[in-house]
Amino acid sequence: MKVIKIGGGCLNGSATISSIMDLLTTHGRGHVIVVSALHGVTDTLLNGMQLALTDESAIPHHINGLRDLHIQTADLLIPAGPYHTNTLERINDLLMRLERYYYGLNFTAECTPRIKDLIASVGERLCALLLSGAIQARGLKAFCRQPEEIGLVTDGKYGDATAHLKLTRRNFASKLKPHLADDTLAFIPGFYGVSKAGEITTFGRGGTDYAAAVVAAALNAELLEIWKDTQGFMSADPRMVPEATLIPTLSYAEAAELAYFGARILHPRTVEPVRGKQIPIAVKNTLDPDGPHSVIHSRSSRRPQVIKSVAHATEIGVLKVHASGVGARPGILAQVAGAVSEKGVNIKSVVTSQTCISLLLERSDMEMAQEGLKATRPRPYRRLEAVDHTALISIVGDGLLHRQGIAAQCFTAVAACGVNVEMISFGPSPAALYFLCREEDLTAAVTAIHSTFFGAPRCLLRSTAAQSGGTESG
Ligand code: ASP
Ligand code: MG
Repeated sequence: MKVIKIGGGCLNGSATISSIMDLLTTHGRGHVIVVSALHGVTDTLLNGMQLALTDESAIPHHINGLRDLHIQTADLLIPAGPYHTNTLERINDLLMRLERYYYGLNFTAECTPRIKDLIASVGERLCALLLSGAIQARGLKAFCRQPEEIGLVTDGKYGDATAHLKLTRRNFASKLKPHLADDTLAFIPGFYGVSKAGEITTFGRGGTDYAAAVVAAALNAELLEIWKDTQGFMSADPRMVPEATLIPTLSYAEAAELAYFGARILHPRTVEPVRGKQIPIAVKNTLDPDGPHSVIHSRSSRRPQVIKSVAHATEIGVLKVHASGVGARPGILAQVAGAVSEKGVNIKSVVTSQTCISLLLERSDMEMAQEGLKATRPRPYRRLEAVDHTALISIVGDGLLHRQGIAAQCFTAVAACGVNVEMISFGPSPAALYFLCREEDLTAAVTAIHSTFFGAPRCLLRSTAAQSGGTESG
């Protein structure tokens, strides 16, 4: 039995959704399908919260928009008859509940993490109902179960929950497994689980990948398939490096590093649940379902070339916390990290020297982190410095730490393009090296590194690139 995750990108417009239904009809029987919300719906649900807070009269219109989208999709996928009636009824029930949440928000004028998760989870529920109804209408056996019905248990942390695997496995054994059958498709909404107290808690944006991995681990599935509307992992972002190629196999460590630092293919936590059980993950392109794809498993492929990919991320910033004697002051790191996390800010990485602690943060978190640090008494630092307009580049490959000359090759390529490296981290992960450069140097640096490790030599000289709007040279 496989667990198949269907991403929101594949559920974008009626033609695309129909083709997913065709794929499910041919490939879905006997498997568990974990679904995202229809494309854009989670954003709409979250935007609706702001609307509901400020303007009560906007709520009905907002709900009608969501109703139209789901009912029109149902009308296209499900012919008139009992399945159609039943699906519409359930969609309407759910939307009525959603409407009440919004009015509650407006009434209390309080936007809690709890209500945010409740509202955000509605998109996946609607979608799972819709797809299971549509599959049944095609004459296949299918059912839909909510995470709360089958006991997908979390630690209860709103907006960033972690699944309780042991409990979930136990619950699934009695509440889900007995219903699975070779000729049946089992639909489960992704993105959230329930705390022990029964509270809806989401796994964070993009969390359906992780939810599907949890389901796969709890059921001991033979494979986790992630269905996307794009290629799997590539040797670089093809929009930046046109000669980038698909990576056919990756290890869990490589996939985790790539997901974490840049490649927006998988939710960074997806490998966690399946890694221990050695359940492979296949990332499939629904536009080319039988075409080449990436498979993630525990065995690293034995290629002479250790580097698998050059990933990058923008939208990041570095907060430099200048302090003297960092290396000799016990507790200073904890104090700095504590002040930042108290503001709910996640630290992506830390690099320290004797005089400075550099925190790598999401750019949108920079202000908050500074606020948190400024409020600490006594101040554990001398000065804060926010470095914006940075981009992060990571090269990823198992064993890169132990292969001589990789770092030298990488930085020689970067230096040859006249790009300055601002901060380096090499060592904490045996599978990744990353560094920062200025955002405007990103394309030049990524292109140079990619050609160093993957051939097709070319170098985008910084000055040339700037003058000619990105044309390559030499
Ligand atoms: N629908 C949710 C989101 O957009 C979860 C997911 O699709 O993975 O973040
Ligand atoms: Mg999504």
